Amino acid sequence: MAYDAAIVGGGIGGAVLANLLARQKKRVLVLERNPGPSSRVRPEILWPATVALLQTLLPPSTAPRWLLPLQGLIFRRGNRILVKVDRNSFARVGVDPASTDPNQTRELLLGTGDFELRRGMEAVKSLFDGQRCRGVLARNVATGQDQEIEAAWTIGDDGPGSVIRKGCGIGLATRPFPMDLATFALDWPAEFPAATVHAWICERPHKSPLLALGAVPLPMNRGVCLVISFPRDPPQDDLVQTALAGWTARHPLMAAVVGEREFPRDMVRIRLQWGHAERYGVPGAACLGDAIHPVSPAGGQGANMSVADAAALADLIASGAEGEDLIRRYERRRRPANRRSVGFTRGATRFFTLPEFAVRGLFPLAFWSAPWLPAFVGRRLVKAVTTAFQERAGNP
Ligand SMILES: Cc1cc2nc3c(=O)[nH]c(=O)nc-3n(C[C@H](O)[C@H](O)[C@H](O)COP(=O)(O)OP(=O)(O)OC[C@H]3O[C@@H](n4cnc5c(N)ncnc54)[C@H](O)[C@@H]3O)c2cc1C
Repeated sequence: MAYDAAIVGGGIGGAVLANLLARQKKRVLVLERNPGPSSRVRPEILWPATVALLQTLLPPSTAPRWLLPLQGLIFRRGNRILVKVDRNSFARVGVDPASTDPNQTRELLLGTGDFELRRGMEAVKSLFDGQRCRGVLARNVATGQDQEIEAAWTIGDDGPGSVIRKGCGIGLATRPFPMDLATFALDWPAEFPAATVHAWICERPHKSPLLALGAVPLPMNRGVCLVISFPRDPPQDDLVQTALAGWTARHPLMAAVVGEREFPRDMVRIRLQWGHAERYGVPGAACLGDAIHPVSPAGGQGANMSVADAAALADLIASGAEGEDLIRRYERRRRPANRRSVGFTRGATRFFTLPEFAVRGLFPLAFWSAPWLPAFVGRRLVKAVTTAFQERAGNP
């Protein structure tokens, strides 16, 4: 075999796995469809276990480029502050969240380890010897030329539409996430407290298709904004833009985030499907991350799950596990944790499919009531969110 592992997709999970396997002196190839760094705009909150693992892979000098420990959160309804959380409150409930620039983090991870990275190479199908996956057929996106790549393990980190998962005949039933999301990148406004997430909940419910808008700070004085609206069939982009313009006109702080941008012209629209695959692999091939459990931003789980999957796979490969045995052990380790994490998206889907008036009424209430929760309840909730993706003692 030319490679011990051919990893399809240089997402956060694939990049972490490549680094971990390279440290085991495995011969690793990463195939990434994009010819250059990704330009997908989205926020990514990383929880402490993920940050700790990434810190073992990336030199400390790079931290300011990819890691921003969050200092607080401010949720407003209009100009009224519903919830204000600072570092002391984080400490009281035992959480230390960090924001990362997803594209920068992936670039740094792809640029560090001792493995081969081929950009502009798209996997088109998995190759089999009988029941065993023996590699992948990859196409150079610039020349259209195909190449067979053989590997002891073919790993699919190629997102929700995973060619590797489909090639292995693994089913993934998905459901649409019932809210429309749109994102845009911004320079962090100088008048905002540093490293503090700002969110606004729409205060004129009956007139607006918008539900909320959140600005998440990224490292290097950058930020990303997430606009959440109710889907309309057919789409009513004009109505969303009118509502956004009216909303920002009333709130100077929000105007500092949105600026002159218009919906959808200056934003990236995201429609998400979520689900959990029936299996995680077959002999010779395993999948991880969004390829087997695409989720919504609810609970900030997706990237954290992907990194935890990568760590488990690296462990099992190091242990010498092979074939069906490795897949069985991988699933036994990761499925319970991933099920918990997907549960946040399942819960959010249930909530957002309530009648619109109920969502509009209950959504701000959830934030407003947060400071009134007894500390031990707050701690339990926070622990559930920040550790759901981690394996628990008792998982083999
Ligand atoms: C708005 C938004 C907010 C989010 N917020 C959070 C958050 O706060 N916290 C969190 O943990 N997660 C969050 N997520 C989820 C998180 O971004 C994803 O779960 C995570 O990126 C998944 O990582 P991955 O490694 O599985 O795949 P990805 O990062 O999706 O990478 C897949 C890679 O595969 C490549 N590829 C695809 N097909 C092929 C092919 N055929 N051949 C070769 N390469 C291919 C793609 O180009 C891409 O680089 C959020 C997502 C969104 C949309």
